[in-house]
Amino acid sequence: MTSDPERRGEAALLQLTVGDDHREIRDAVRRICARFPGSYWRDLEAREAYPADFVAALTQAGFLGALIPEEFGGSGLPLRAASVILEEIHACGCNAAACHAQMYIMGTLLRHGNADQKQRYLPKIASGELRLQAFGVTEPTTGSDTTKLKTRAERHDNVYVIHGQKVWTSRALYSDLMLLLARTTPVERVTKKTDGLSVFLVDLREARGRGLEIRPLKAMINHNSTEVFIDGLEVPTENLIGVEGKGFRYILDGMNAERVLIASEGIGDARWFIAVATRYAGERVVFDRPIGQNQAVQFPIARAYAETEAADLMVRKAAAMFDAGAPCGAEANMAKLLASEASWHAAEAALQTHGGFGYAKDYDVERKWRETRLMQIAPISTNLILAYLGEHVLGMPRSY
Ligand SMILES: Cc1cc2nc3c(=O)[nH]c(=O)nc-3n(C[C@H](O)[C@H](O)[C@H](O)COP(=O)(O)OP(=O)(O)OC[C@H]3O[C@@H](n4cnc5c(N)ncnc54)[C@H](O)[C@@H]3O)c2cc1C
Repeated sequence: MTSDPERRGEAALLQLTVGDDHREIRDAVRRICARFPGSYWRDLEAREAYPADFVAALTQAGFLGALIPEEFGGSGLPLRAASVILEEIHACGCNAAACHAQMYIMGTLLRHGNADQKQRYLPKIASGELRLQAFGVTEPTTGSDTTKLKTRAERHDNVYVIHGQKVWTSRALYSDLMLLLARTTPVERVTKKTDGLSVFLVDLREARGRGLEIRPLKAMINHNSTEVFIDGLEVPTENLIGVEGKGFRYILDGMNAERVLIASEGIGDARWFIAVATRYAGERVVFDRPIGQNQAVQFPIARAYAETEAADLMVRKAAAMFDAGAPCGAEANMAKLLASEASWHAAEAALQTHGGFGYAKDYDVERKWRETRLMQIAPISTNLILAYLGEHVLGMPRSY
């Protein structure tokens, strides 16, 4: 198993289940989601509110601690199980974006934190007592060019003093902790631009009002996104994760899991769109026949179904490789790319199938359509995935 194209010809045995794997998890997630119908999400959106009850239900069921090892109070499940949880949430018409980060952000702490940090935070994250759902990477002026980020952290004795600004920091207003990426050595003083960046675990409860301010950011969807302004925030040195200057590597390290999990949400969205479009195409009668009898209505749904099944295979392959400990950067990125496009094509087919009613909020199609569009932009845009595949997997010249 490798991402290296020259060795791709080598066969590898990979266990991959097709069909409804992790049946018990799927059933349990469906039971929870049945308590949170479309009206719940519409009401939240109208109030720009956080789905606290939904997040509490998932936490109580242990789903958000799925990837935390049992020794720290989590369920210690494989990535594929977490992927199934998120897929089902989205296939039920719900949205895991309010809390999915609780599943994977902690991976940085788990893999690179010291024993004290893990013992201090992971059990509380697993139980839901502490929310680690905010991830401060993106900045307004540097965007996808992460290594150029301008947030600076300078060490003064036993604290780091941080200045800078983050944008699109989702859930920061509803999170106790935030992982923050900041530059500790100026880019001009490092040999590789990926060096000199560090990751901090910021306790937002202590930080707000003491050098850190969070402002909600109005967006196309109810994503609880914010802008974070940092001016002289003091973070204890004990909250540095791993080694100073190696933070970019730690963040990259967590990306494969993140890509697979977000891709799973895309698969779930696609399944929801295909189900509602198929049902509506069969029920809606115009010109004395169900609209689904017209191939112009039927075929886009059928095509989206085929694309979803293909993307799902890539998601399963990436998860299986991740769980087997194999390098899976190419597969995780392809899974995210293909799932985000399959879900978008399914969304388009569903909206078009519903005609004018696609615009009616009560049908939830327009909400899910807006929500699933995000996957082509965040947490990484399609172009950046293609650049990764072109340059790192296929070995073509670098564009940046
Ligand atoms: C709702 C929402 C929630 C988010 N949540 C978070 C969060 O919690 N934490 C966080 O850190 N960030 C978050 N983000 C930010 C998200 O990760 C970024 O928006 C995304 O990575 C793209 O960065 P950008 O918006 O700065 O786009 P830019 O980097 O400005 O890019 C703009 C466009 O140009 C293209 N582009 C740029 N450079 C190239 C190139 N070299 N080649 C080809 N195309 C290129 C991009 O693909 C993109 O389409 C969120 C964003 C949104 C919208």
